[in-house]
Amino acid sequence: MTIVQTRPSLIERWREHLPFAEGDPIVTLLEGATALVPAPVISEMVGAEVYLKCEGGNPTASFKDRGMTCAVSAAVREGAKAVICASTGNTAASAAAYAARAGITCAVIVPEGRVAMGKLAQTLIHGARVVSIAGNFDRGLALVRELVERHPISLVNSVNEFRLEGQKTGAFELVEDMAGGPDLLCIPVGNAGNITAYWRGFCEMGVAPRLFGFQAEGAAPLVLGHPVEHPETIASAIRIGNPARGKEALAATAESGGSIRTVSDEEILAAYRLMASKEGMFCEPASSACVAGLLKYGADGASTVVCVMTGRGLKDPETAIERNDGAVISCAPDMGAIEEAVLGDA
Ligand SMILES: *Cc1c(COP(=O)(O)O)cnc(C)c1O
Repeated sequence: MTIVQTRPSLIERWREHLPFAEGDPIVTLLEGATALVPAPVISEMVGAEVYLKCEGGNPTASFKDRGMTCAVSAAVREGAKAVICASTGNTAASAAAYAARAGITCAVIVPEGRVAMGKLAQTLIHGARVVSIAGNFDRGLALVRELVERHPISLVNSVNEFRLEGQKTGAFELVEDMAGGPDLLCIPVGNAGNITAYWRGFCEMGVAPRLFGFQAEGAAPLVLGHPVEHPETIASAIRIGNPARGKEALAATAESGGSIRTVSDEEILAAYRLMASKEGMFCEPASSACVAGLLKYGADGASTVVCVMTGRGLKDPETAIERNDGAVISCAPDMGAIEEAVLGDA
């Protein structure tokens, strides 16, 4: 059988900028090369050309796959038989998929009852061992960091350098697609790996857009300047109180001339509904935090802006069903009732 590979893996595409040699094992699901979609409604609202980097187009529907192809490939290269992570959901889903692909085992530590349904479904169907703790993400990360000191398991959270190496390719693609990149990058901030990775990628390409990072009000350690013991927000992917890459993220943001600021859950949800209903873009609540921030604080003179749509909306169907403005209309299966239901006053 001839296997036709329709496009290069992320590692093959950017090999000269990544720590992988020809002949190294590559674990890939053909991640990266995601779409950059114009956002006409948001553009009009903020008076700048706004584009959406649609990371939900990755194999497991979040940007985590860019980092995970590198982290799992490196783990396999080192002979690892197992990977582990703490996760609010998307890292778990991605690690589980790439571990399945590599034929190695995967365990994930998640906060009990706080993982969005789609992410949990993915992690389980890929065959990972899902361990839920009565504690938050930060506690889970502390525990797995200690666990890997005691056992030969590879840690694939964004404290793993390979994760950031892979994720910096998001910036490479923007520089390629926009001939030099945007003036301004808006991005949600949780554990702060992605904003750090984007800055690394831009620096390696010799460009320097401003970075606007956004945290949820109830989970804003980088804005407050200290860890938050009980982080709380509807946007579960950024419900993190002690970001592992916080220092680097603050340094990157300052160097870029940007900032990290907060948005409220109400603002996140308003942007979430606006994106879905007016732009046709169904993203996760965490992703819409960066649109909420752009709408709240403005483009600040930038003429081109990219908002990083970090994950796909289907990851979190409960929030979509509970927090939309519509409702399902029950109707008898006859013409009169159908006419009234379809055409009558809502
Ligand atoms: C992981 C994640 C984030 C936050 O990224 P960090 O690197 O942790 O700052 C934002 N949105 C989604 C959908 C995510 O999965």
